[in-house]
Formats: sequence, structure tokens, C-alpha cells
Amino acid sequence: MDEIRIEGLEIYAGHGVFEEENRNGQPFFVNAVLYTDLRSAGLNDDLTMSTHYGEVSQLIYRFLRDNTFRLIETAAEKTAEKVLLAFPLIQALDLEISKPRAPIGLPFSSVSVKITRGWKKAYLGIGSNMGDKKRYVEEAVLKLKKNPRIRKVRTSDFIITEPYGGVEQDVFLNGAIEIETLYTPPELLGFLQLLEQEAGRERKIHWGPRTLDLDILFYDDFISDTKELTVPHPDMQNRDFVLIPLNELCPYYEHPIFHKSVRQMFEERKEQEESE
Ligand code: ATP
Ligand code: CA
Ligand code: CA
Repeated sequence: MDEIRIEGLEIYAGHGVFEEENRNGQPFFVNAVLYTDLRSAGLNDDLTMSTHYGEVSQLIYRFLRDNTFRLIETAAEKTAEKVLLAFPLIQALDLEISKPRAPIGLPFSSVSVKITRGWKKAYLGIGSNMGDKKRYVEEAVLKLKKNPRIRKVRTSDFIITEPYGGVEQDVFLNGAIEIETLYTPPELLGFLQLLEQEAGRERKIHWGPRTLDLDILFYDDFISDTKELTVPHPDMQNRDFVLIPLNELCPYYEHPIFHKSVRQMFEERKEQEESE
């Protein structure tokens, strides 16, 4: 991806764990690399198609001048989020904050932290088989759209499917959702579980009836294999109610472990069912 670079932006500010640092202040320096697509701005000689580096610099400058954090880690984290939320064309950024006069009591030239943050694409499975299913699902989509750390929400058609896993229960309404998010995978799971709770979900029987179920199917090319969070979802290749909506949203998305496209998994699932 193309880059806009800001180097050596100086801000006099009060970040630090010592009270004197907060009171007296000292110089901080920021380097930022903004990852964004510069093609159309470049071809059209048009600033409205790009991100104004002057405005980004001003935002970073004011934010770090007007707030006081104990850690430069926090200063970096908050500044990165601020920039990503204010400038939607920036897909990701590297942000480095250095503190050349940090109170270390030894000769040194500088200390710094550097972080990379950005919008990550993720796919979610959504389902309901209790009460007003359509409403539970629509409410959840609305809440995803309202969360500032989630954007570009795109939903598949919703389909009615037979229950899975052998428990006697009502049919499901199922679908898939594409998002971009600033959350890490565990943070995203936490937010999805909050939405489940708000829909009055009770965890009783495994694979039993529920007002709302939200699963992370894919998160970028992230792989995790713990009980709390298994991504990609470990059973997706065996589930029509996942593959049908996902194939509608992203047929060419590649599974990061099987290295198969969603369409390929969907076709293989159909073949397997025909031979059964
Ligand atoms: P399945 O995951 O087979 O569809 P389920 O959705 O009915 O089953 P739940 O009772 O909703 O299972 O979730 C049980 C636990 O699964 C959650 O507490 C969560 O920590 C864990 N979990 C692991 N991987 C994921 C994932 N990718 N998405 C959502 N939850 C996950
Ligand atoms: Ca599930
Ligand atoms: Ca679940």
C-alpha cells in the first residue's frame, strides 16, 4: 500500500510518570507512516481524494499537547485511534513517539515506542432461533454499525436453516456479516458476547436454542487455537448455514489454514453432501 510519511513532528507536552514531568513538560517527537491508496489523488491532482498530511499533523500535535498521559504507550495508542477515526482513507498507520529527555539518569539519545494499528477485515456468523429472530438479528447488525470501532458493515441474505448438532429445537435464521474493525480478535469477541447478553442470551445447552449467536469466522489472516477463541471457526467447512451466506459475501476469500477459497469449501461441501 502507498504511504504518507510525517517525520520529526515536535510537541512540547507533559507525558510521564513523574509529577515534575507533567508540570514542566519536555519535547516529544512523532514519526507517522500513513498507509493509504494514493492512486486516484495522484492521477487527478486532487487533495480531496487523499489525506491532508497538514491536518493529520495538526490533530496529532493538538492531541498530544492538550492531553497528559503517564505512558508514551498510552499516548501512542490513543493518538493512533484518533487519527484512524478522523481520517477514513487511512487503512493503517505506524506511529512512533520518542522522548529524548526522558528522566533515565544515563547518557542516551532517545527512547521511543512504535506501534502499528489499523482497520482489519473480519467475517462473522450470526444466528437466532428463539423469539422474534429477525428482530434479534437486525438489532445486532444495527449495534455493529453504531460502534465507532466497526465500519463498512455488509450483510448477506438471511436464510432459514434446520438446527445443527442433534438438539430438538426451532429452525434458525442465519447469515454472515463482513466488517472492518479496530478491535483485536479477543476484543471483538468481547463485544460480540456483550451483544449476545443484551439480546438476553442464556448459555444452557451446547448447540441449544438461543436468541442470538455471533461467531468470528475469519479475522484477517489471524489464526488462534484456544478454547476461548478458535479462528478461523473450526467447523465452518461442515456447515451449510455458514458457507452459503459467506459464499455470497466473499467467495474468493482464502482460508488461512486450508488455503482454499470460500467458494471451494462451499463446492466441496456440496459434493460431499451429494455422495452421502
Ligand atoms: P459453535 O462455536 O460450534 O458454533 P456455539 O456457537 O453454540 O458453538 P457458544 O456457546 O456460543 O458455542 O460459545 C462457546 C464459547 O466458544 C464462547 O465462550 C467463546 O469463548 C468460544 N469461542 C471459540 N472460538 C470462537 C469464535 N471463533 N467465535 C465465537 N466464540 C468462540
Ligand atoms: Ca455458533
Ligand atoms: Ca457462539
